This record gives sequence, C-alpha cells and structure tokens, in this order.
Amino acid sequence: MNTKVKITYLGHSAFLLKSPAGKTILIDPFLSQNPGTPVKFKKPEQVDYILLTHGHEDHTGDTLDIAARTGAKVAAIVELIALLKSDGLDGEQAVEFNKGGTVHLDDFSVTMTNANHSSSLGGRYAGDPAGLVIRFKDDITVYHAGDTNIMPDFEIYADLYKPDVCMLPIGDLYTMGDKEAALAASMIKAELFIPIHYGTFPPLTGSPDVFKEETERRTAGESTVRILKPGESL
Ligand code: ZN
Repeated sequence: MNTKVKITYLGHSAFLLKSPAGKTILIDPFLSQNPGTPVKFKKPEQVDYILLTHGHEDHTGDTLDIAARTGAKVAAIVELIALLKSDGLDGEQAVEFNKGGTVHLDDFSVTMTNANHSSSLGGRYAGDPAGLVIRFKDDITVYHAGDTNIMPDFEIYADLYKPDVCMLPIGDLYTMGDKEAALAASMIKAELFIPIHYGTFPPLTGSPDVFKEETERRTAGESTVRILKPGESL
C-alpha cells in the first residue's frame, strides 16, 4: 500500500491520522480515561479535526476539552452535534452531517455510513450511530466502522468506497465479536484490517488473534490483519 497517510492507534477505538497535507485528525478521542492510551497521547495539543462515530462516552471521550483547547473542528451526526453544542462546543467548530452524506475538509472527505448499534450521550438520545469513510485526496481510503454488529450494508460499502484500510470492532458484548468481525471483513474486502474495541476492559473478550486467523482464512490471504498496540503507527 503506497500512502502518505500516517495512522496511529491510541487504544480502544481511538486513532490519530496525519493527512498528506499534514492535517491532524482524531477519531473517537477517548484518551484521558482510556486505560490503553499511552501517556504522551492523552492530551493532544495540536488537532485540526475530531471525527465521531457516535455519542457513547468511550468514543466522544475528551472531544469537548480538545476542541476548546485546540480549536479543532468536530464532525458528527446532527443530533450528536446538537448535544455537544448544548454542552459548550463552539458553533463555529461544529460540522454536522448525516448518513450517506459527505463533508469535504482540506485534503480529505468524510462520508457517514450506517452502523448497527445504539447511541446516547449522558443518557440523552444522540442520533444514530455511524461509521466513517475517510477518503484522502490522491491517496488511500480509510473506513472506521465505529461500534457495530455485522450487517449486509458492508457489501454496499465495499462496492461504493473500496476501502484500503478498515478498523473493525471485535470485542463482543457491546459490538460484534471476533468471528462475526471476520465474516464482516470478508464482505468489506479492505487490503488491511485493524481490530479495535477489545481488551480495554475485561468484558471485551474478542480475540485479535482469532480475528486475524479467521479473516485471513475467509479471504484466502487477500486481506491482512495488523494487530496494533496503542501508540503504534502504520
Ligand atoms: Zn458504543
């Protein structure tokens, strides 16, 4: 895979992406309270964009603090943006969209997909949960599936977006587990999969090794799985 995009895993479902033009993008920045996040990534000082899959606290995490400190723009589904604004997010920093829609930001775009899950923030309805397809200009496409169960929509996204890299939840209990995720991977057909949302807390029992073995078997080696440790980059 030939790319200028740098992808760093921050633990759980959180990622730091550096775009070819040097923009810093955080996805689901659950950092300060995330037991997996290395100390040096807990309080990012320079962030251009925060992208959110849904409202749950282990995904929205430090969004408001980081946005206030860095001036980062925050992109999420309409209802979640409304809650964040009522909690203090500056309207100038808010980027709202909805499923099927695309927002164009600097040298990348973000398209919102379905996710089969639920979503709330502090007990309030936060709109639907979503996945995010991030297309870097003249470079790779990254699909962060958010929290989700397996769903037929994955075949549509494979056809439409042809993701190169895909982050898939495998932890079980709150999302699909390792075996469901491997079948999902065979539907999405990305070149590279990164397992997420496992091991952060003891009940998230899905195994990245089982996911890797099952995915590589189901795709006959067409897709590979990279198990990233928090702090590790691609
Ligand atoms: Zn969730």
